[in-house]
Amino acid sequence: SAKAKGKNNYQFFSTDMTFVTSSKLVLENDLRRAFSNEEFFLHYQPQVCASSGDVIGMEALIRWQKAEGTIVSPAEFIPLAEETRLILPIGEWVLYTACKQVKEWHNSGYPHLKLAVNLSPLQFLQDDLLETISLVLATTHFPAALLELEITESVALDDAEKAISRMHALRKMGIQMAIDDFGTGYSSLNYLKRFPLNNLKIAQPFVQDMTTNPYDKALVEAMIFIAHSFDMSVIAEGVETEEQLALLKELGCDEIQGYLFSRPLPADRFTQLLVTGFPSVNMI
Ligand code: C2E
Ligand code: MG
Ligand code: MG
Ligand code: MG
Repeated sequence: SAKAKGKNNYQFFSTDMTFVTSSKLVLENDLRRAFSNEEFFLHYQPQVCASSGDVIGMEALIRWQKAEGTIVSPAEFIPLAEETRLILPIGEWVLYTACKQVKEWHNSGYPHLKLAVNLSPLQFLQDDLLETISLVLATTHFPAALLELEITESVALDDAEKAISRMHALRKMGIQMAIDDFGTGYSSLNYLKRFPLNNLKIAQPFVQDMTTNPYDKALVEAMIFIAHSFDMSVIAEGVETEEQLALLKELGCDEIQGYLFSRPLPADRFTQLLVTGFPSVNMI
């Protein structure tokens, strides 16, 4: 089967010392153990309506804390997880754990909350992706319409047709699709035309510089205009200042995600936030 083949590939890769540096090999072994040692957990970062300040939903972000306490950034281990195919069980765990948690929030008085989950390209292109997701949704009783999958333009690098038909199939299930880190990849505009997307996430670097660099401001304005022309909504990532928030609102950005409202939070702190609201963000 494809699964058994994948396992063989993994073993071949991981024992071939010429392909990996030793520190990478250590990290890979740690990563394999991390999964069985249950060292992963999730943080949730609120996604906020730009005009009302209401929490619309959240992005689930994986965290890895080793037994001895060290925290490894996903920017460091996700690429390795992808390379070693460990992203497949890890990604499935993320999806299941996040759906289960957010379903609890739905049941405790917040039934509208939308959950965004990152999918790596390898995960996104797996033949059994639809079955995996259907099973998770059924097991957790999570409504497909409140699940949003975040992908990047790189899903289309190898086989754009396959990626596009995969997106259509997911949309047919009622799932929402978002493009992450928009503006940092290749052929962005061409993909925008061909991808059936609900949501565009403006990458952090544009947001960070838009209040000081008129070119970044122009790019953000253009991205919002184009997204709206394609009937997509726009979320700005990495919003850290009131100034950025004000400008994004002025430019018509729909949703905001960033430290200004909240850092990614453990589930119990997110529950608290739902009850008490944000401490001190000026929404004027
Ligand atoms: P991403 O999907 O673009 O996630 C947004 C990243 O920006 C997160 O980093 C988040 O903590 C950070 N962030 C949010 N607001 C701010 C802000 O105001 N300022 C700054 N400086 N940063 C902000 P994080 O959690 O370290 O994740 C990094 C990347 O790792 C993610 O980028 C995503 O590509 C990947 N990743 C995280 N969790 C998962 C997962 O469960 N599956 C997969 N495949 N990838 C994941
Ligand atoms: Mg993301
Ligand atoms: Mg992003
Ligand atoms: Mg990213």
